[in-house]
Amino acid sequence: MVSWFKDKNGYPRFKDSGKLVHRWKAEKKIGRPLKSWEVVHHRNEKKTDYSDKNLAVMSRSFHAKLHANKRNRKWSW
Ligand SMILES: [Zn+2]
Repeated sequence: MVSWFKDKNGYPRFKDSGKLVHRWKAEKKIGRPLKSWEVVHHRNEKKTDYSDKNLAVMSRSFHAKLHANKRNRKWSW
């Protein structure tokens, strides 16, 4: 089991490195380090759910659009 704490934004971070757990998990999933402009979206919007199926890597701009759309209508994924 990984050892983490919740940061002030509500995201789990590793106790030793301080790295965000969901970003680390996403990097394992795609097999390379994330770029600075890439964000990891939580499909179910639960910040503490870093399971593979809940994480989606996307660009910062697409992510912003996604959330803007979510406010207006139900997103199907
Ligand atoms: Zn998101």
